[in-house]
Amino acid sequence: MRRKIVSEVEAKKFFEFIGKSKTFFISGHVRPDGDTVGSSLALKHFLNKIGKKDVDITMREKLPSNYNFLPSVESITVANKVSKKYDLALILECSDISRMGLDVNLDNFNRGIVIDHHQTNKIKKYNNNWINITYPEMASCAEIIFEIFKKGRVQIDKEIALCLYVGIVTDTGKFQWSNTNSHSFSTASELLKYGINTFDVYRNIYGNKSVKSLLLLGEVLRTLKREKVGNVWISYIYVSYDMYKKTATTVKDTEEFINYATSVKDTDVAVFFKEDGKNIRVSFRSDKIDVGRVAEYFGGGGHRNASGTTIEGSFTTVKKKVWDFIREIS
Ligand code: 5GP
Ligand code: MN
Repeated sequence: MRRKIVSEVEAKKFFEFIGKSKTFFISGHVRPDGDTVGSSLALKHFLNKIGKKDVDITMREKLPSNYNFLPSVESITVANKVSKKYDLALILECSDISRMGLDVNLDNFNRGIVIDHHQTNKIKKYNNNWINITYPEMASCAEIIFEIFKKGRVQIDKEIALCLYVGIVTDTGKFQWSNTNSHSFSTASELLKYGINTFDVYRNIYGNKSVKSLLLLGEVLRTLKREKVGNVWISYIYVSYDMYKKTATTVKDTEEFINYATSVKDTDVAVFFKEDGKNIRVSFRSDKIDVGRVAEYFGGGGHRNASGTTIEGSFTTVKKKVWDFIREIS
């Protein structure tokens, strides 16, 4: 039988911690994505609705502008250090505290709630005032929050529904990636009852690309190759500083590019290498091998099917290291 998502004990603790708190800190991982932003805002809307007005969402980096349509997105602040004390910290989508990218002292929080769906989540209970609600079988953090809300009979409204829906849509790749399951669909179905305009969501998130970002895509697609490594076929792409310069773009313009590598016929693993100072950022996608394990080996993390890391070295040396490891495990 499938494991119940969110136990009674977890839900009870969640609402007990919230009831006991007046000031709230919410954060998610660096390079915030749709699930991080949507889940954070859904929690903020819920807290505000029950009269908890002192709620700060702090992220290490600016959000991609395609999430600007989300209600209250302007309340999210960007910082690298948090010195204020809070009654409760809600930490989303971070397999490790350091994934927030913030300089923060956990002693400044009276209580903490970790909500995550990364199989690589390593956050132990910091003390008895911390709980960790992690369900890797969930495609998005938003789905876990929805289950918590259901258990607590929270009155969902259109704003909360929209934020959670965006979390599900983005983390399932519009319900196409292999992490998508019946829970993702049934949750989305529940949320749509609150009057979400699905085309509007699509337009804002995916259908508003700049010309220069598509010109960058053109450059990047010239690097596309498919190679057999061990027992798997890898399709991969690469972006260099020269390409950013030529098209007046930044790394923010590369979102979704990896899907082109994933879409190549007979591909087991898709890899996207991005030049980043002395390092290469590497993104992995696969429905054949556990790329969470691959990323973890190189100091990163993620899920079975989608993961990432940062490795020091040039594109050629990093690629060789990654290929060697994949050859070994495939
Ligand atoms: P992306 O390739 O889109 O950057 O990341 C894919 C997945 O892997 C996301 O779920 C993301 O949270 C995770 N991920 C990416 N980079 C890192 C990293 O450096 N460390 C960890 N722990 N997870 C990562
Ligand atoms: Mn997520």
